[in-house]
Amino acid sequence: MSDDNSVRQPDRLPEYQVYIGLGANLANPVMQLQNAIAALHQLADSKVVAVSGFYGSRPMGPQDQPDYVNAVARLNTRLTPLALLDALQQIERQQGRQRKAERWGPRSIDLDILLYANHTITSERLTVPHYGLTQREFVLYPLADIAPALILPCGTPLQALLQRVPLNGLEKLTETCSG
Ligand code: ATP
Ligand code: MG
Ligand code: MG
Repeated sequence: MSDDNSVRQPDRLPEYQVYIGLGANLANPVMQLQNAIAALHQLADSKVVAVSGFYGSRPMGPQDQPDYVNAVARLNTRLTPLALLDALQQIERQQGRQRKAERWGPRSIDLDILLYANHTITSERLTVPHYGLTQREFVLYPLADIAPALILPCGTPLQALLQRVPLNGLEKLTETCSG
């Protein structure tokens, strides 16, 4: 009998630190974020270790939609990047996310992978670091709540990005928590 262990993919990865961006502007956005965080706590092979404060932000793209509530969560996970994306999209569907043709239209919940350890991923379904990370105040400031000393995979310190990106009306609604 041949031993094929050497060619099998490992079932589990080492544990990696990832950051998830959360956003909502429909159907009680604060509750949507709370429900999504509760769902992240239930994720297989993962542990939520920090959640930023909740922030109110102005919509990107179409302006005829409600303001957003945003936050960032840090997880330790053994899920692969695509398995994590699948799990996040399942949570989005459970919370009634409907994808329409309009880009950046209103949504009950959006869960984006901002960073997956210091990996750079470019595939059909996934771009990591998230392409909007460096320009979006509603990502950078919540991220700084829980990772003020973060250095991006490209070598840029988060603090340098904060100097460049204005608040654009972003306001903190609730405090940061860990665990
Ligand atoms: P934006 O990506 O500009 O924030 P969005 O979050 O509204 O816009 P979605 O409709 O949620 O966009 O996602 C569109 C597609 O983006 C998803 O089907 C997914 O495959 C892809 N995608 C690429 N990179 C990522 C990432 N880092 N996190 C989440 N989705 C991603
Ligand atoms: Mg998004
Ligand atoms: Mg998204």
